[in-house]
Amino acid sequence: MRRTCHAHVIAALIGCTSLALAAPAQAAHSPAAPAAHRSPARAALPAGDGWASSGTGTTGGQAADAAHTFTVSTRAQLAAALNGGDATPKIIQVKGAIDGNSDDAGQPLSCADYATDGYALDAYLAAYDPATWGTATVPTGPQEDARAASAARQGARVQLLVGSNTTIVGVGKHPKLLALDLQVKNADNVIVRNLTFEDAFDCFPQWDPTDGATGNWNSEYDNLVVYGATHVWIDHNTFTDGRRPDAAQPFYFGRIYQQHDGELDIVRGADLVTASWNAFTDHDKTLLFGNSDGAGATDTGKLRVTLHHNLFKNITERAPRVRFGQVDTYNNHYVVTAGQEYVYSLGVGYKSQLVAEANAFTLPTTVGADRVIAYWKGTAMTEEHNVVNGKETDLLGAFNAAHPTTVIAGDAGWIPTLRTRVDRPSAVPHIVDCGAGAGRL
Ligand code: CA
Ligand code: CA
Repeated sequence: MRRTCHAHVIAALIGCTSLALAAPAQAAHSPAAPAAHRSPARAALPAGDGWASSGTGTTGGQAADAAHTFTVSTRAQLAAALNGGDATPKIIQVKGAIDGNSDDAGQPLSCADYATDGYALDAYLAAYDPATWGTATVPTGPQEDARAASAARQGARVQLLVGSNTTIVGVGKHPKLLALDLQVKNADNVIVRNLTFEDAFDCFPQWDPTDGATGNWNSEYDNLVVYGATHVWIDHNTFTDGRRPDAAQPFYFGRIYQQHDGELDIVRGADLVTASWNAFTDHDKTLLFGNSDGAGATDTGKLRVTLHHNLFKNITERAPRVRFGQVDTYNNHYVVTAGQEYVYSLGVGYKSQLVAEANAFTLPTTVGADRVIAYWKGTAMTEEHNVVNGKETDLLGAFNAAHPTTVIAGDAGWIPTLRTRVDRPSAVPHIVDCGAGAGRL
């Protein structure tokens, strides 16, 4: 810890650049390093580091034998190494950029390659134009059926299951998963580190005129989803819309043609997750923990997640939005840029028990501290020692003052203990900006 802090003090004096340049060189040497347990590929989550360290802890593929230690550079190799999400201990090292939209020979697939049964966007728009279809019912009929059939074809390429006892780690220069939807589903003991997740996009968004006041375009494919899984450590990754920013998307029926879903969603009874030192960037609905108020049967007592030392930059909302879970959010840096779309950062949802302590918010003058928290039927949270632009700020007090009829009480009802390192919130912007994201292991 002392050494880490010292490194950051040095970084403070000389800036982040040298730290960022040094990191890829270390990563490039690590796969061949003889001290295997020191390499990121064989690392385990440290004791006491967040919810994923509780109970049996999180070791990922540390026990993998040589036959189950892979280096992959194509979608087909990645799919073969994952082996349908089986539980054999395995280490999968991702080298270079892998595009989920590619066939088994590695040739790129376009949206047109998936389209089937006569699906065409202009025909879909003509069929469900609110001027003729109305706004009371969701689309049904030949174009909606064709959309769903086309979407199933894309889903079969871009959705890959990650099984128990697996480590997936990026190695070398700029390891990236492009347009993939990694699903850690009903598994235990998984580590995902040092990867850039870019643009998990849906070729076939669905129009729902009944979503919200004016309808919405909805898409599938989170970059990474933890679904009914336990003991998952997500560390030093970068998530981004990248080549497909929302700002460049068209509008149809007056709503943005949204082709993305979440960056990291944790749902359906998932539990015991630590997400540390990731950079979540350039995205709308970013982290959803619990996807339904009606999921109490699976989610009560679950959805326990620790978020620490993550960077949230140019995020519109859900960082995170929480239902049910005891979620510990500390030492994260939230950066809202002037002119970006911004709704809120911390969503206090149904039965949520969110603790937000010692985080740093960098906000433009146009965004007041009262906008950081949003009410989604949660009744209480713990909010302490957070800073806005370097100054300790009572975020919950600001929210409650701005929403006198929707008061959120000030005690989440539990005290986090699984923390290995808590930095002063005023130091968090520099520490996190220099240390979070892929390429910084
Ligand atoms: Ca999702
Ligand atoms: Ca407060």
